[in-house]
Amino acid sequence: MTLRVTRYGEPVLRQTGKRIERFDDELKQLAADMIETMRAEDGVGLAAQQIGRALLLFVVDVSMLPPEDLDYDLDGKRPPIELIMPMALVNAQVKILPGRTATGEEGCLSFPGVRGDVTRPLSVEVSYQDLDGAPHHLRASGWFARVLQHEFDHTQGVLFIDHFSSRQLRNAETKLKQLKRAARQRQKEETPENSSEQGA
Ligand SMILES: [Zn+2]
Repeated sequence: MTLRVTRYGEPVLRQTGKRIERFDDELKQLAADMIETMRAEDGVGLAAQQIGRALLLFVVDVSMLPPEDLDYDLDGKRPPIELIMPMALVNAQVKILPGRTATGEEGCLSFPGVRGDVTRPLSVEVSYQDLDGAPHHLRASGWFARVLQHEFDHTQGVLFIDHFSSRQLRNAETKLKQLKRAARQRQKEETPENSSEQGA
């Protein structure tokens, strides 16, 4: 089932994800729904905060990236990308590997119409658990590493606009204000003013 994607201005996008302790059917269903939602929205990644849950969980699918952008190894091996995608990462922690940074244009499903250049470390190592709780180490460079960092940021309540330069923020200002207004409107509709008096 596809889920509603939360938009900039909704408070959950600023919440730090809770560690996941139970690797049960509910978690597997949530990850499956997130993958379905990511695909329906043509995304390469989706974090729990983006479907309204503050959890240390995100999904990625970078199998459509050109092979030259797919520099990675998983637990010391390089399985074919189609075997490991889509991937759900639980309780992920990101370690930046020493080396250079790279700048690339990013978008985000929670920010329709907003794009901007983001500079990030080129290579990272991610420790995470799969949906059965088994621990893994994923090392990635380039675009794959960029996607992992963008999604990990979401689980920490950090958004890609936090990495924008002040000039880029000014360029996006109108769009960001529109999104914030829409989020406020939605919140108002979801909590009618006199709901506490009803049934009294
Ligand atoms: Zn995003």
